[in-house]
Amino acid sequence: MGNPKAFITIPRKEAGYRPVNERIYDFGEVEQTLNREDRKLQASRCMDCGIPFCHSACPLGNKMPEWQDLIYRGKWKEGIEILHETNNFPDFTGRICPAPCEKACVLALHEAPVTIRENEAAITEVAFTEGMIKARPPKTRTGKSVAVIGSGPSGLAAAQQLNRKGHTVTIFEKDNTLGGLLRYGIPNFKLNKNVIDRRLELLKEEGIIFKPNTEIGKDISGKEILKNFDAVCLTIGSGQPRNITPKGRELKGVYFAMELLSQQNQLIMGEKVDSKAIINAKGKHVLVIGGGDTGSDCVGTSIRQGAVKVTQIEILPKPPEGKNPDTPWPYWPNILRTSSSHKEGCVRKWCLNTTEFVGDKGQVKEVVVEEVEWTKDETGRWNMKSTGKTETIKADLVFLALGFVHPVHEGLLTELGVEFDARGNVKVDAVGKSSVNKVFAAGDAAIGASLVVRAIAQGRKVAEDIHKSLI
Ligand SMILES: Cc1cc2nc3c(=O)[nH]c(=O)nc-3n(C[C@H](O)[C@H](O)[C@H](O)COP(=O)(O)OP(=O)(O)OC[C@H]3O[C@@H](n4cnc5c(N)ncnc54)[C@H](O)[C@@H]3O)c2cc1C
Repeated sequence: MGNPKAFITIPRKEAGYRPVNERIYDFGEVEQTLNREDRKLQASRCMDCGIPFCHSACPLGNKMPEWQDLIYRGKWKEGIEILHETNNFPDFTGRICPAPCEKACVLALHEAPVTIRENEAAITEVAFTEGMIKARPPKTRTGKSVAVIGSGPSGLAAAQQLNRKGHTVTIFEKDNTLGGLLRYGIPNFKLNKNVIDRRLELLKEEGIIFKPNTEIGKDISGKEILKNFDAVCLTIGSGQPRNITPKGRELKGVYFAMELLSQQNQLIMGEKVDSKAIINAKGKHVLVIGGGDTGSDCVGTSIRQGAVKVTQIEILPKPPEGKNPDTPWPYWPNILRTSSSHKEGCVRKWCLNTTEFVGDKGQVKEVVVEEVEWTKDETGRWNMKSTGKTETIKADLVFLALGFVHPVHEGLLTELGVEFDARGNVKVDAVGKSSVNKVFAAGDAAIGASLVVRAIAQGRKVAEDIHKSLI
């Protein structure tokens, strides 16, 4: 720790977002960056606590105090090296992680934690700009082969770790390009896709084989993969969206969130999209059902497409602002979160259940919602009660952002015959193994829809498990 008093003398300073009236006209990243001197000052605020709660709150176990100090001293190369010891892709998490580390930072007790996430992004940008991040191909090969199925953050992390152990790794991906939800789910205004591309270049240089446009279970059977590889890693994500089926669900204009988000990302990448299937919010009233991050991404995308009005509703109660006594420090706080997209102009409402989609000539026009009340019973369980109070919301486009239930079972998983856990995820044991010999699973496919940081952590762990099974 270079400056032991910095946490008192230097206030937290965020780089902030580009101005709303500029950023809503493009899909470029909204977050700005600080200059290097300011960044060093921000890193100096780390107190190098005896018990670094930040470190244990991070699913990757990132060693925050070490690299804050290295940033402060301008030792960017050592900083990226120590960051890479625990995280394959700090450039992804530095941009889009909700940063449980910051919530657990001791300075968060006074609402001004170290800007750990931004510092992480900054370190990787300096390292990429100055050519400090290079491919690290293995010196020798083991002669063992691994098929990684699915190229989201979990699959990419597993592939890189296994390749570094000397195994020959092939990543199979059903989409046109690798990246999973980083590529097709998360909008460019949160994560520019060149950030994924430069990593993919490095993975290729390290010797990983990419097979895009290849759906396992359809283009190549699971059996054939099992025959040709020494181990199989399922990192296929949690692709089954949660649905609701009130009256009128079949109307035109009611879509799953991912239909909008993946199409918008495809359009930006210049991928071919059927012109009749284009979803565009220009001049429309948009209703987003679901108050989480995916919903917020639909808000930002609709605003950029030129929606007249965007409303986001949530069935759960509005979380408390600021602090929540139910989730005190250093836990992840269940509090109201306002994203950059919300700040771009969106009406948010809570405690609303969707009861009917109303249409005209087959096209949705309005949505009827009913207010609900939430009460806790003696065991602390929340119970929902209808109030009978209804409201009608004008909506030409509706996006269902209700989360994901589990991985898609049809196709590969059914063919392989893997067992599922109670939630429908691929059941794995303590060493990442599924019920089928030499088949492992990780990421959202195994733990349910989660976060990029957990997907990377899962990928790293399953790589270690697979490696141990191969040697
Ligand atoms: C809209 C949206 C926004 C999000 N925003 C954030 C955020 O800001 N921060 C954050 O931390 N997390 C965010 N998340 C969550 C995060 O993206 C996921 O937790 C993470 O991507 C999961 O990684 P994964 O590798 O397990 O799976 P995925 O990223 O889902 O990748 C799975 C891949 O497997 C491929 N696949 C599936 N079946 C097959 C098959 N049979 N053959 C070949 N390939 C196959 C899929 O095409 C996909 O590319 C968001 C999620 C969504 C939907």
